[in-house]
Amino acid sequence: MRAFQRIAVLGSTGSIGDSTLDVIARHPELFGVYALSAFSRMEKLAEQAAATRAAVVAVPDAAAAGRFRDAWSAGKYKAAMPEVRVGVQALADTAADAGCDTVVAAIVGAAGLPSSLAAARAGKRILLANKEALVAAGSLFMAAVRDNGAELLPIDSEHNAIFQCLPHGARASAPTAPAAGVRRLLITASGGPFRQRDPATLHEVTPDQACAHPNWSMGRKISVDSATMVNKGLEVIEAHWLFAMPADRIEVVIHPQSVVHSMVEYDDGSVLAQLGQPDMRTPIAYGLGFPDRLQSGVGMLDLVRWGRLDFEAPDLRRFPCLGLCFDALRAGQGACIALNAANELAVAAFLAGDLGYTRIAPAIAAALQWQAGRPSVTLSGLEDVLGLDAEVRALVAEWLIHSRIS
Ligand code: NAD
Ligand code: MG
Repeated sequence: MRAFQRIAVLGSTGSIGDSTLDVIARHPELFGVYALSAFSRMEKLAEQAAATRAAVVAVPDAAAAGRFRDAWSAGKYKAAMPEVRVGVQALADTAADAGCDTVVAAIVGAAGLPSSLAAARAGKRILLANKEALVAAGSLFMAAVRDNGAELLPIDSEHNAIFQCLPHGARASAPTAPAAGVRRLLITASGGPFRQRDPATLHEVTPDQACAHPNWSMGRKISVDSATMVNKGLEVIEAHWLFAMPADRIEVVIHPQSVVHSMVEYDDGSVLAQLGQPDMRTPIAYGLGFPDRLQSGVGMLDLVRWGRLDFEAPDLRRFPCLGLCFDALRAGQGACIALNAANELAVAAFLAGDLGYTRIAPAIAAALQWQAGRPSVTLSGLEDVLGLDAEVRALVAEWLIHSRIS
């Protein structure tokens, strides 16, 4: 049996954070929580810290730290109050802290990059949900995993499925070439809530409609990404880095039931798939227990009840963002940073009611066009990546203002 793991759950108050703590609580003999982090919702963070007896919490600023302490006092918790660390650097330091063996990277967006990278540089076992870190800084992150002997376990359901379907010996943490005998990766996508909606009515879509995913319950940003299929595009880029697979050997297949979580196609004509209920506790339990299997709390799949599983090709006219993601992957890292930053800003504006749903794709296209036209810059370190990310955000913020006026 594996050694006891002390775990840091970064982004613990989110959807992945909740699912992770649920699985951890089922196995007190295997796991203990060392640290938790959150950006907002300090009452929830305090509840989680009290329930798990975390030693450390990381919060964004002094005001949040104050709210956390207030929430802790109000909760009258019996446990000792955790050490409260403040700021981006403290979050990254917590990911690299000798107090934890395993880091669950469950922060949403490029904001998760510094801490995910710090965990890689510290040689941790990393359960990666924070796909935006790989999209923005894939080569940097994978080199850090390789150079520091970190163990990378994908928990995004598609990548976890692919990982499970790869040959045993090919489950390296940071491969430099596709696994032998593998022809293509087939990434499944549900198609989201608007798969069959009349495209002429998409401009009327509200944030709540976009967040009402038919199969998965997730945070709001990834829910909108699923509706636009940006999420699938980010996952293609994520798969490219995780499995050293070129863009033309990654295919997206729409599968509305979300039962087949992804597939690996082999040279001999075999296709291996991983199936299960659409519940993130399965891939999380796989990552936590690897190489053993753990109880996850997820019910068994009843294929007879499903009766049929459907597959179709995505329509790129309905989902223009998916095509933009493939364009960005082929164009290189600068384009991937621009894509991710523009999408984060556009989705935040849409969720705030400041941008129409059908304006998300043009915002991304504008950022990609700007990036294609500027002189190329070296993106060798975290500072370079964050610098370009900030430049694109400033540009897209202006584009959004202009788009509101015009
Ligand atoms: P969420 O919005 O539910 O939670 C996000 C967490 O990150 C929260 O704890 C929040 O406090 C924290 N956070 C937000 N902004 C931050 C910032 N600037 N700095 C530090 N912390 C910040 O998101 P989620 O749905 O749990 O997704 C988390 C990540 O996992 C995303 O990258 C997403 O793409 C990926 N993912 C999620 C699912 C899912 O089912 N939810 C599935 C696969 C992958
Ligand atoms: Mg996914």
